[in-house]
Amino acid sequence: MDIQATVANMTLEEKAGLLSGLDFWHTKPVPRLGVESCMVSDGPHGLRKQDDQADHLGVNDAIKAVCFPAGCATAASFDRALLQTVGEAVGDACQHEKVSVVLGPAVNIKRSPLCGRNFEYYSEDPYLAGEAAVSFINGVQSRNVGTSIKHFAANSQEHRRMSSNSVADERTLREIYLPAFEAAVKRAQPWTVMCSYNLVNGTYACENRWLLTELLRNEWGFKGYVMSDWGAVDDRVECVKAGLDLEMPASAGENDKRIVQAVQEGKLDEKLVDLCCERILTINQRYLTHAKPDTAWSLDADHELARALAAECMVLLKNEDALLPLHKGVKLAVIGQFAKNPRYQGGGSSHINSHKITSAWDSLSAMPGVTYADGYDVDCDDPDESLIAQAEAVARGAETVVIFAGLPDRYESEGYDRTHLHMPVAQETLIERIAKVNPNVAVVLHNGSPIVMPWLGSVKAVLEAYLGGQAVGGATVDVLFGNVNPCGRLPESFPLQLEDNPSFPWYGGEKNVAEYREGVFVGYRWYDKRKAPVLFPFGFGLSYTAFAYANLRLSASEIKDTESLTVTVDVTNTGAVPGKEVVQLYVADRESTAIRPVRELKGFEKVALAPGETKTVTFTLDRRAFASWNDAIHDWHVETGAFGIQIARSSRDIALEADVTVLSTVEIPDKATLNSIFMDLLAQPKNAEALKPMMDAMSNAFASHSTGEDENADSAVSKDMMQAMIAYTPLRAMLSFGNGMIRYEDLVQLVDQLNAAK
Ligand code: BGC
Repeated sequence: MDIQATVANMTLEEKAGLLSGLDFWHTKPVPRLGVESCMVSDGPHGLRKQDDQADHLGVNDAIKAVCFPAGCATAASFDRALLQTVGEAVGDACQHEKVSVVLGPAVNIKRSPLCGRNFEYYSEDPYLAGEAAVSFINGVQSRNVGTSIKHFAANSQEHRRMSSNSVADERTLREIYLPAFEAAVKRAQPWTVMCSYNLVNGTYACENRWLLTELLRNEWGFKGYVMSDWGAVDDRVECVKAGLDLEMPASAGENDKRIVQAVQEGKLDEKLVDLCCERILTINQRYLTHAKPDTAWSLDADHELARALAAECMVLLKNEDALLPLHKGVKLAVIGQFAKNPRYQGGGSSHINSHKITSAWDSLSAMPGVTYADGYDVDCDDPDESLIAQAEAVARGAETVVIFAGLPDRYESEGYDRTHLHMPVAQETLIERIAKVNPNVAVVLHNGSPIVMPWLGSVKAVLEAYLGGQAVGGATVDVLFGNVNPCGRLPESFPLQLEDNPSFPWYGGEKNVAEYREGVFVGYRWYDKRKAPVLFPFGFGLSYTAFAYANLRLSASEIKDTESLTVTVDVTNTGAVPGKEVVQLYVADRESTAIRPVRELKGFEKVALAPGETKTVTFTLDRRAFASWNDAIHDWHVETGAFGIQIARSSRDIALEADVTVLSTVEIPDKATLNSIFMDLLAQPKNAEALKPMMDAMSNAFASHSTGEDENADSAVSKDMMQAMIAYTPLRAMLSFGNGMIRYEDLVQLVDQLNAAK
């Protein structure tokens, strides 16, 4: 189809019509021109395709599909290949089901552990979220099905999600909330982007020209179409101007009429409407020419795949006395309803109608000597004494106890946020009570976001299974018994208490405003800066084996910011069983005029190692790995200086480090003015000579008040103070402090001289 010619043949009404959905899930057809309708569907950790009754909240059933581990879990794998595999499987499902675009990945930053939708999101860290997104998108799109990376942008809370204004400075947006989108657009070209409900700095994301056109298309080079989140459109005409191509779902023709009217009244350029049509049709055409409804889709095979992947996502948080792995034939007590009915996905629009669910109990019940008790009622927060007593009885008779616990569905879901980080009291109490009757307790957790663990000291082992998809039960048993060695790492910090989280003072509230006042200090960037203790740090996770690091090498000790640095390190499995290590690379800016995080994740690699085996892991770092956003030049900038290259097991466990000096090739234009202070002017060595007479005059002026070298204990003016006074004085103040020796014209002349000097 010649898309431009087709659009040229469409009436204004047809074009306006194409700019909103036919219904909940389809774009409009234009039969007389052969324009077909295309379907988009939720996911993304599986396919939520609604054939009959449609809704965006997961209320009505979708077709049966396989529920893979949710975003919180796949991010914990730190495994790009795994994320790509999930994407491929979802892409195949879409082809089989004639879906042109799957609505994901969801890459919003986990700013607060309270966000109701954190289970769908990847991480508190933008680099990890970006890598996950790129891999997932590449997987789906390798099947000629599109993705819709969402929710663009700064949508890190559910509370008042359709009316809240996210207020953040540009550096915070650039360094934390945008890079996952940026990486995805630049490296994987998602076919579509979904813009969020919220406002960004006062303008609805859907109407935000800076976001949708200047940044997304002009700066990052996005080529697909932008769709709205469901019901996010306020002023449709403004949206067209800003760069929103498709309004979803349908607006019953209302907004189509407004577009027609605006064009007719000369308030909207028809060319912009044409452009939206062209973008939508180009993507639809890409799918239609590659549609393969005969693509094989085996739910059972995908279930097995989901099991294998879920095991690779689990994070072993504690393992005292090597309680895990369990040995075959262990006299085991299994406690907790989640053992029989695991919580394996979250509620809302991503809710998959799972074709089958396997619980841990399905596998464990077949083993001799394994007993079970409910322990709690998942629907009830209050402890149930009789359920606890039954569980205690079962635990007393066992060698080891595994308690399956976590957050019930009602605790975390789309549309609202949590209010605290506790599991139901019923479960917390149960764990404490069981630990009193049996010293060998392991806890398996199902939750999409951090919880607090007041009971942690009472148990020997904790396995974070996150929301691991429909096959999580079997996967958990695989890890508990050591058929799979746990190799996930936390994609987020677990705080000791909610109040420690940097966004805590500003999160929620009833004012329709979300102020991102903690700035770039999100997650470990905050905890590390404050040297604050955490329950478990970002990147943390144990293994049944151990790894040693050696031989950190940098390709150079000094590079220019236009050059890249290669980093290699050797990792050895020093234990007795095969395992996978996540080698993390953080960059630490040693000295900077900008206030920066202590360290930031800039690379990771997952390596599989047999016992005794050593592998060399290689990282390549470019300018962006060292840069921060600089408002003065409105660009990324690397300041000349030393940077630490830290090879780490987590953000709190640096195994090896070495420094590199990076030389900036970009000079920040630093124009001298009468308000420039001496210190800033002297940062440029070329200025020293011209400033000397002024400096001397200042010293003399202050010397009359100072004690000089011969410090007098009674004096109010120390030498340090005098130096500081001079350093922070603006040129103009010389009129006051220059003892009448300096005239205004002298200062103007000096400023000209400084600006002229090269
Ligand atoms: C959600 C999106 C989802 C859409 C369609 C919205 O409420 O925020 O993530 O894709 O509904 O179901």
